[in-house]
Amino acid sequence: MTILALDFDGVICDSAEEVLQTALGAWSEISPDSRLQGEVESRAERRSAFERLVPLGNRAEDFGVALHILHSGLDVHTQKDYDRIRDHLGQDWLDLFHHEFYRTREHVRDTDPERWLGLHKTYPAFIEVLERHQTDTTLAVATAKDGASVRLLLMHFGIDRLFRDDLILDKEMGVAKTAHLRILADRVGCELARITFVDDKLNHLEATAPLGVKGVLAGWGHNTAREHDAARRAGFPVATLETAEPLLFGD
Ligand SMILES: [Mg+2]
Repeated sequence: MTILALDFDGVICDSAEEVLQTALGAWSEISPDSRLQGEVESRAERRSAFERLVPLGNRAEDFGVALHILHSGLDVHTQKDYDRIRDHLGQDWLDLFHHEFYRTREHVRDTDPERWLGLHKTYPAFIEVLERHQTDTTLAVATAKDGASVRLLLMHFGIDRLFRDDLILDKEMGVAKTAHLRILADRVGCELARITFVDDKLNHLEATAPLGVKGVLAGWGHNTAREHDAARRAGFPVATLETAEPLLFGD
């Protein structure tokens, strides 16, 4: 029996549109005079620039850092460039953006749930793989998202039946994914080494590798060729929607 721990955003759920809309909403609250929202919404290259910056961050406030970089026309080529700009913004600004991001998300989710759900998509080819293997696999979610949103979205996508409720491990389980994977091993009653962990963030694979889990980068997620190369150099396989099935299930 394969035990598969799946990150949610960028593995099961394509949340790029929701993240962009939420981040722009938070940005407009903080900088009401900025024209950035209109620019990103109307110009494809501004939007692609935002999507290339997303993999360099980890938390909600990093979407604000990405928007600040676009707004200020800063050059970012490396993680170091990005980290320097993030540090320069300061903790108070980051905390403010974090707060506004979640406030904006909750407002849309609670006042217009249909619109909020409609901003999310799945990766249909990957969902088909999971459905084909649902009887020979134990599936879990290991996410930093809140459990209520994850359950709503799984129902919206019609795939909630694929996951045992106690194996939907959300942000309450801990900050690092190591906590999620330890709880998963405990709940399933298996060795950590039997778990395959699929995430679209290389740093999550690196952080959890010492547990002995097998990490796989979801190349279809919120990442780019830059992260695919880095993952391969670090020794992690990079799955595509075409190779996920043989890579994860060996057939
Ligand atoms: Mg992710």
